[in-house]
Amino acid sequence: MSDIIQLLPDHVANQIAAGEVVQRPSSVVKELLENAIDAGATSIKLIVKDSGRTLVQVIDNGKGMSVTDARLCFERHATSKIQKAEDLFNLQTKGFRGEALASIAAIAHVELKTKQETEELGTLIKIEGSAVTSQESVSASTGTSLSVKNLFYNIPARRNFLKSNTVETRHIVNEFQRVSLAHPSIAFSFHHNDSEIYVLPKGNLRQRIVSILGKKTNEKLVPISEATDVVEITGFVAKPEFAKKKRGEQFFFVNDRFIKNAYLNHAVTSAFEGLISNGHFPTYFLFLNVPAKSIDINIHPTKTEIKFDDEKTLYAILRSTIKHSLGQYNVAPVLDFNR
Ligand code: ADP
Ligand code: MG
Repeated sequence: MSDIIQLLPDHVANQIAAGEVVQRPSSVVKELLENAIDAGATSIKLIVKDSGRTLVQVIDNGKGMSVTDARLCFERHATSKIQKAEDLFNLQTKGFRGEALASIAAIAHVELKTKQETEELGTLIKIEGSAVTSQESVSASTGTSLSVKNLFYNIPARRNFLKSNTVETRHIVNEFQRVSLAHPSIAFSFHHNDSEIYVLPKGNLRQRIVSILGKKTNEKLVPISEATDVVEITGFVAKPEFAKKKRGEQFFFVNDRFIKNAYLNHAVTSAFEGLISNGHFPTYFLFLNVPAKSIDINIHPTKTEIKFDDEKTLYAILRSTIKHSLGQYNVAPVLDFNR
């Protein structure tokens, strides 16, 4: 008899996990922006070079990390966000798996500079293929800067799988838009190859939508607002006459997290039935707030799909809320006139 099973070394396990979490540069953008939000930042800067191939950097003014944590954050399953299994069903943060930084550090050159408010000096750590190559004390402002360079440098197959710069940049822009729309009270900026793509001051949702999609959007927005026992719905839909031939400006946020959900999308689309022509898609920015206990976020590596306890009820409430708001906007003046 001979035993042949071995436990994989950590850096190999991290590389395998990275395959799930990090599909392309925009995945890094998402993970780093979400970490900055979880750290309580009020201002977040994103700097990208070469569509994320050579650099993705996020600088935040959040709470920073201690010297020990700055090292520990790159370990797998190292997280400050949950402690026990029950916490999975009451998530208040974007992150909880403690997997992103370990995965990223396994497949890129990473530099972390971080300082907590109470500390005199900060920490600068450099990592290559999961191994720390240097660590020193440095002067730094409170918060965290995380640079991810040369993504997939040690996985040529993954690097070659990346699409054109145009496509990869589009993915990054999408990710940036989703996160910044979900958090209008945080100031964001985004620079790509030294040109300014977005500078978004803090504001309300309407202001954030307008600064991302342009001034003309302002007059198109119909406010949505409904509160029931199972869900609170807020946000905007664009008036039916502004429906577009392409999908894309359709945003669902559940507890401030962007998600994709074909079923709920159908609820919205069907509320527009008869108001927009075939082959056109309504634009919407809808925020669903539900009890943390009523959803499972832990079903998909990128967390863009989630499971609801009672999707059918949500569908019905969403559809009637939007129908009602559209009706008020479109039909009410005519009825009043006839009275
Ligand atoms: P998760 O977000 O699931 O906890 P990550 O690998 O993304 O896992 O991060 C690991 C830990 O590192 C976090 O739980 C947090 O404590 C710390 N961390 C990561 N990014 C930041 C940041 N920008 N500011 C402060 N702490 C951070
Ligand atoms: Mg995280």
